[in-house]
Order: sequence, then C-alpha cells, then structure tokens
Amino acid sequence: MGSNPYGSLEPGTPDPIPKPVFPEVSSIGAIVRGFRKRCPRCGERDTFVTWFQTRIACPRCDLRFAKEEGGFLGAMTLNYVVAIGIWLIVLIVGIILTVPDVAVGTLLVVSAIVLIGVPLWFYPRSKMIWAAVEFLVLRGTPEYRPPVARDARQRELE
Ligand SMILES: [Zn+2]
Repeated sequence: MGSNPYGSLEPGTPDPIPKPVFPEVSSIGAIVRGFRKRCPRCGERDTFVTWFQTRIACPRCDLRFAKEEGGFLGAMTLNYVVAIGIWLIVLIVGIILTVPDVAVGTLLVVSAIVLIGVPLWFYPRSKMIWAAVEFLVLRGTPEYRPPVARDARQRELE
C-alpha cells in the first residue's frame, strides 16, 4: 500500500462540488449588467449582433437571451414605460420652467425628440434588462445549474 497514484480518488471519496465558472452575481448586479448591455450572468460585452438584435446566447457562458419567440414583449413594455416616464418628466419640468408663457412649440419639438430618441437609445438596454430578469427567475428554479469548470472542459473536448 502507499503506492496508489490515485490517492485522492479512492472509492468513497465524495465528488468535490464543481465551482461555477462565473462568480454569482447579485440581483441588482444582474440588472445593472443588463442596463450596460452586458450578459447578466457573466458580464460579457459582446452580446449584440446589431444595435437592435441580441445574440441568441452569450458567447462566453451560453446563457440564452431570448428563450422563446416573442419573449421580448416585456422588454418592449419596459422601453415604452421608460420613454413615457422620461417624456412626462421633461414635459413637467418644461412647463414649470416656462410658466406662465409655456413654450408650446419648443415643448412639442423636445417631446418628439424624447419620444423617438429615448426608445432608440434604451431599446438594447431594455432587451438585456429583460434578459437579466429572466435569468434571475431561472436562477431561482431548482433545475438551474450554473456552468461549472467541468462543462467548460467538456466543451473544449467537443
Ligand atoms: Zn454570459
């Protein structure tokens, strides 16, 4: 005895729990990553094909950004709510600053710019924030399994 080269792999030794490849992110951290158009799980930046189209899945951790067709309805709603919210703030501030001679013409132009510009600017963010929400829901389910080192090795072998 004593010549066993597999000393640490003797029968009965429990398999060590594989460590996740990507450190666990907090819920707020995942949403913030979404706002920055990054993958909610691993923080990868390369998540969009174009300004308007996300990759199907994260190139680094394989998290799917859209689980089913039309899954971005939530993102559209979020985008709409944010655009209307910012527009209302601009409108109210504009009226308060110019009352009693409310600059209606200027406010109309600014409203148009806000209502077109904000949704365009926020669109990819709304998508990735929604992907973060879906990721957080997924992470709360018992079936969820984060990618572990073993998966990464397996992928290299394939
Ligand atoms: Zn990722």
